[in-house]
Amino acid sequence: MAKIVKESKAAKVVETKKVKTLEDYYSIGKWKGLKQYKCNLCPFDSLDEKAIKDHIIERHMPKPPKPVVKVAITDRFGREIINKNK
Ligand SMILES: [Zn+2]
Repeated sequence: MAKIVKESKAAKVVETKKVKTLEDYYSIGKWKGLKQYKCNLCPFDSLDEKAIKDHIIERHMPKPPKPVVKVAITDRFGREIINKNK
C-alpha cells in the first residue's frame, strides 16, 4: 500500500513593506575602472559615493516638515504680547 503523503507546500508570500533606502536611489556602474554612482532619478552621476548620497538627500528625498517657528508677538515697544485667549 502506498503511503500517501499529503504535503501542503503552498509558498507563503510574505509581504514586507520595503522601506526605500538611499541605495535604492542610485545604481553603481563603472567608469574607467572606477566605481561610478548614477542617480536613478536624474542624469546626475558621481565617482564619489558621498556626493551621490548628498545629491539624493538634497534633491530626491522628501523633506521633513519644517519645524514651527515660534515668533514672539511684540507690541511697538518690543514687549511681548501675552495671548489671553489661552
Ligand atoms: Zn538625481
